Amino acid sequence: MATIFSKIAAGEIPSYKCAESEHYYAFLDINPLAFGHTLVIPKQEVNYIFDINDEQYAGLWAFAKKVATALKAAVPCRRIGVAVIGLEVPHAHIHLVPINKERDMDFSNKKEFPAEEMQAVATRILEEFEKL
Ligand code: AMP
Repeated sequence: MATIFSKIAAGEIPSYKCAESEHYYAFLDINPLAFGHTLVIPKQEVNYIFDINDEQYAGLWAFAKKVATALKAAVPCRRIGVAVIGLEVPHAHIHLVPINKERDMDFSNKKEFPAEEMQAVATRILEEFEKL
């Protein structure tokens, strides 16, 4: 059965799309740690990130680097924090979180933002991504 993230990448479940390429997809985390918190996934369904084959794995991080650059341009911050957790959704994903201080990476402190703000920031990230 397809994972929820495969359905998102296929457009079968809505998401706030931030970037896309042939093999990878990026979208806003629905329960963000910080405004602009983005998830990066391979379209290929692999549960555990370290089970991805070397070529796809390298491609995933290269794509994430580009998304992080777009995200930092769209959401001014000191750094883009990076995390891989994967305890909730069995489809490999990288968390990219705009941060200004260490506490902004606190996974026990999820936030909510209005749909219009989520859509607006996703559009800004996508625009920045398309410039790269
Ligand atoms: P984890 O698997 O522990 O890295 O956590 C999965 C992350 O995916 C959490 O931060 C969730 O908020 C996020 N998430 C779960 N379902 C969705 C969805 N439909 N759209 C966007 N983000 C989601």
